[in-house]
Parts: sequence; structure tokens; C-alpha cells
Amino acid sequence: MSLPPITLTGHAQKEAWQNKVLPPVEHIGGGVWSIPVPFPGNPMRYTLSYLLLGDGDAVLVDPGWDSDAGMDHLTAGLRQAGLGLTDLTGILATHFHPDHLGMAARLRTVSGAWVALGDKEVPRLSAGEDLDLVLHMHREELTLWGVPADRLAEVAMSQSSLTHLLNLADPDLRLTDGSLVPGKGLNLQVVTTPGHSPGHICLVDEPHGLIFSGDHVLPRISPHIALELPGLANPLADYYQSLDLIAFEDQMEVCPAHEYRFRGMQRRAAQLTVHNRDRSAEVLRVLDSHRPGTVWDIARHLTWSRGWASLQAFSLRLAVSETASHVVYLRSQGHDIDVPVTEPCLWVPGYPSIPILGTLR
Ligand SMILES: [Zn+2]
Repeated sequence: MSLPPITLTGHAQKEAWQNKVLPPVEHIGGGVWSIPVPFPGNPMRYTLSYLLLGDGDAVLVDPGWDSDAGMDHLTAGLRQAGLGLTDLTGILATHFHPDHLGMAARLRTVSGAWVALGDKEVPRLSAGEDLDLVLHMHREELTLWGVPADRLAEVAMSQSSLTHLLNLADPDLRLTDGSLVPGKGLNLQVVTTPGHSPGHICLVDEPHGLIFSGDHVLPRISPHIALELPGLANPLADYYQSLDLIAFEDQMEVCPAHEYRFRGMQRRAAQLTVHNRDRSAEVLRVLDSHRPGTVWDIARHLTWSRGWASLQAFSLRLAVSETASHVVYLRSQGHDIDVPVTEPCLWVPGYPSIPILGTLR
């Protein structure tokens, strides 16, 4: 089925994307600026950070990956908008992933600005966590999914990736669905869009006709929807609902956290829904034809853009956890799938943040 394409608006960003360089700092209009922040060692290459200027208030959305180079780019971008770091009054992340929230802790120290996240957001780790225990449970989860013992070390999260998660800023503010982001002269409404992460939020700036979509809706790639611990019980079901929620209109300009700006939220949401439904259908076909016994077995029979054999380490982990989310979703739709998956569980403050592993069946 061919669906109507989206309309590109971030022309300079798309060109930079194709040329594999960092896009320029851009004044989008009104008091809104786009400032790219490098995402080192990742194919996404950069996070698009957005600066929103109100009456004396200045809020930064998705400050990006924590690095000295990132800090330099942010500082230069703010300067282009006529601001210094100490002029920031608020820092907001669409979700907790380090390429979004990463720089918030450092920026807060310099500026004194508040840090905000969605009220449903669940960071993967909290300060003081026993990293050895976390890694141990994580490996058990991967084993349950059928990751072979000789690939475990490669696929599993490393100590250093955990350290990035440990150093993330704890929010000063939690933003609920429908609330307005604090800031004089700003009109930014929060829409809770779980799926890519448990408490992902998008922001709607109606006066400027802009939607800040974080990683919920990107123009080119389909956001990673994974079964995670801790995390959503059925992330794909939540993702579909969140796509419906944000696709309330089609003409506003979408400002994503990666790639480039575009128009056509309804068109893109429809594409993403179809993409994921096609994937679920493929999982069903694999179950039918290969009778796989584990999530890993399903994953290796699915089609991957560069082939299963090309997937390694981080990308292999994403592939397996994404496959697990399809298994949970299909089961919730009444399909009888006899493949063990981890029982998802949200982290609750005050309780051990790593739940006991178990299988649904
Ligand atoms: Zn991201």
C-alpha cells in the first residue's frame, strides 16, 4: 500500500543529513531556534535541540548528548540567538534517553534552570544502583529471549553505557498530559506519548504552528519500540495509541529530535502505523513457517535492512528487544505464541528498580 508522502520543510537539515555533516543553527520563526548537538559515535549523528524564547524566559527542549563538543555547539547556538548559558530558565527533555536528557545535568549546574520530564517517564537507572546486579539481570533477560551464550557479552549493555544512564539529571518538574510548560510568553502544551519510552512527551506550540515530536515521530526512520526492563507492559500498543493522539492535524510543522523538519503529522503517523503492522504480520509468518522457540529465533528469520548477519552489539540488542515487543503485542491481540518473554514492570520509586524476571507463560 502506498501512502501519501510527508512534506519536507527542513531543507538545509535534509541536505546536511545527506552530506553527513551537522545542519546549521536555524531561526525557525517567532522565538524558536533549532540548534544541532553532536551525538558522537551514533548513526543519528546529532540531536536537534530547540530553544524557545518567551518574555524573559528561555526554555531548551532536548539538550542532547553530554559532551564538551556538544556544550560548545549549544553555547554557540545560544549566542546566535542572543543568549548566554545563564539566560536559560528551563530545560526539558521529551524522554530520558541520554541523547536527549544527557546534557541537562551539566546545563542545570551552569544556568540554574529547572529540568523537566514527563510525569510518566521511567529512567532505566536511579542514582546509587548496583550496576553489577543490573547487568546480571539484563543478561538473564537476554538469555530468556534466546540470545546465545557466545553472543551475550556482545549484545548486552556495557558498564560504560550504564554509567551514561546513571549520570542523567533527576527532574525538578514532572509535566502531566495537557499541562502547559512553565515560562512567561510560551504556549507549549504537553501531550503524553508513551511507546519509544514509557513517559515520552511531545509538545504542541499552537501559536507558532509547531509540534516538537522528540523521537515519537521522525521523518525517515521508524522509532525503536522495545520491550525493556523497567518499561511498558505492551509498548507497541501504547505506541499506536500515541500516534493516534499526536496525529490530530496535518498542517503544523513537525520539529523532530533527529533528521529534519517536515509537515504532515497525520501522513507520517499513518506510515509508522502501517510499518509496524507489517512487521507484526511478518513475525506471524515467521512463527508459522519456522516454529521458532525464542525471540532470537524469530528475529533471525525477519528481514533487516542490511541483513541479520550485519547486526552487531547495540543494533542486535535493539533488533531483539523490538522483536520481543511484537511478540507481546501479538499475544495481546489473541495470538497464541509460545515464546518466553520477560514480564514487563514499571519501576516504582522506593522499590527495587530492577524487577524479578519471570515469563508470561
Ligand atoms: Zn533520540
